[in-house]
Amino acid sequence: MIDLHVHTWRCRHAEGTPDQYVAAAAERGVSVLAFTEHLPLPAALVQSVPGAAGYAMPAEELAEYVAEVARAAALGRELGVEVLLGAEIDAVPQARDHAAALLAQHPFDLVSGSVHLIDEWAFDDPAHRVRYAQWRTAELWERYFHDLAEAARSGLADVMAHPDLIKKFCGAPENSVTHLFESAAEAFAEAGVAVEVNTSGLRKPCREIYPSLELLSAMRRRAVPATIGSDAHCPGDVGADSSLAVALLEQAGYRSVIVFRARVPEEVGLHEL
Ligand SMILES: [Zn+2]
Ligand SMILES: [Zn+2]
Repeated sequence: MIDLHVHTWRCRHAEGTPDQYVAAAAERGVSVLAFTEHLPLPAALVQSVPGAAGYAMPAEELAEYVAEVARAAALGRELGVEVLLGAEIDAVPQARDHAAALLAQHPFDLVSGSVHLIDEWAFDDPAHRVRYAQWRTAELWERYFHDLAEAARSGLADVMAHPDLIKKFCGAPENSVTHLFESAAEAFAEAGVAVEVNTSGLRKPCREIYPSLELLSAMRRRAVPATIGSDAHCPGDVGADSSLAVALLEQAGYRSVIVFRARVPEEVGLHEL
């Protein structure tokens, strides 16, 4: 099995060291594990977004993170777990230039792009859930998927994480959102980014993998490649529900996923996982 999305204590809202994650991966049959810690955010954003100091590793820790993952990779070689160096970036306009500069400093295997912010609002933070009341759901989804497409087109990421994160606290629009899914799939295909099948949604109020079958099927029709990630925030969630991710991929018509090494994709058949 592969798990291309986990966090450690360094982002200040997860727990566990890289070594603990590698040990958990070995126990669970995860043979490829990518650390995708939240890349440091620009100082201006940390100032302006309430709660942002707890969303990503501090700026001065990036080099330590890279070194720590390298040490975990050595443990992984002993335990039969291939460890990849990744980062999850906030691919929103106010963070993109900063992310690009940081990504150039280290030899990342993969970059995962996310939209966690709408303007100054971290809409996936339960502490700020009250702000959903300020939006009409249909308009919120339009805005989110617009920003997601722009993030994909930024060219910074190899794979877009939890693509329908906006459903986290439920409340999908009453009307069809097919047009949003189709335009997201079109943007991903044109940008050449992959889509992540992220099982953490199963552990959230929406109780559904990100993305939904409808969105993943739209991605498949446009030949957007896929990855699998648990988005674990503790070692106990490494590889969580990966069999459900594979089942969803099969349902959407996928026969393979991809793994990135040195930012180069390589296909792996679902039957090989
Ligand atoms: Zn995320
Ligand atoms: Zn994450």
